[in-house]
Amino acid sequence: MNKKYCVANWKMNQSLEDCDIFIDKLNSELIHNGVEMIICPSFVHLTQMQKSLNDLQIKLGAQTISEYSNGAYTGETSAEMLNDLNINWTIIGHSERRQLFDETNDDINNKLKVSISKKINPILCIGETLTERKNRKTLEVLKRQIQVACDSIDFSNVEFVIAYEPVWAIGTGEAADLETISETHEQIRSILPELIASSNHISILYGGSVNPGNCKNIINIDNVDGFLIGGASLDPQKFLSIYTQMNEIGVESI
Ligand code: PEP
Repeated sequence: MNKKYCVANWKMNQSLEDCDIFIDKLNSELIHNGVEMIICPSFVHLTQMQKSLNDLQIKLGAQTISEYSNGAYTGETSAEMLNDLNINWTIIGHSERRQLFDETNDDINNKLKVSISKKINPILCIGETLTERKNRKTLEVLKRQIQVACDSIDFSNVEFVIAYEPVWAIGTGEAADLETISETHEQIRSILPELIASSNHISILYGGSVNPGNCKNIINIDNVDGFLIGGASLDPQKFLSIYTQMNEIGVESI
């Protein structure tokens, strides 16, 4: 059984006050039960959040990382800078980065390499657009995303997580249906051995309009090892509810 994760992607949301309220809630209400919780706020809030978290089991992560080590790259944040803050998780290749900031699979490969070199655990996002799904290109697209992104990388010294996020389900309020999630996760699981060495322990998360009402059915699907959550992770009540429902299911199996 693979490790379970509940990951919050706050994108460009939350004020510092919101972060404090969220952390207070976690500090007082969170009961751990084997599921790894990772929160990815904006870069500028990482330090403050790190300081206010009493609970060292909760991990913080970045939402992206520079593919460069250092130098004249205005606006970028390097892996070494994350090391300075003791942040050892980062999302890489989110569809918004791919679509809005033109990140390619090759860029993502460089980002993965740089994060691994600094022992930062990557959460690699993959997913097809609606057109690609309608044209029956889903598997081909996902395979290519993994193949190019993971080319020539040895993941044995980090925790490597893949998040399957159908682009058409992100932020729409309409999660993919259970059959689609089940079928696609099974396909991803089955192609991993040919693309990545020792892929057995790679957890595969689902992302795309997960909420407290649909999470229980989704986490019960084979090959779903947790969630990457956008909108519903901004509300501490909803995020805790999802996390707690995962615990109820995950306890015996972890
Ligand atoms: C995301 O942006 O990674 C995401 C899954 O967003 P949402 O949960 O809002 O669909």
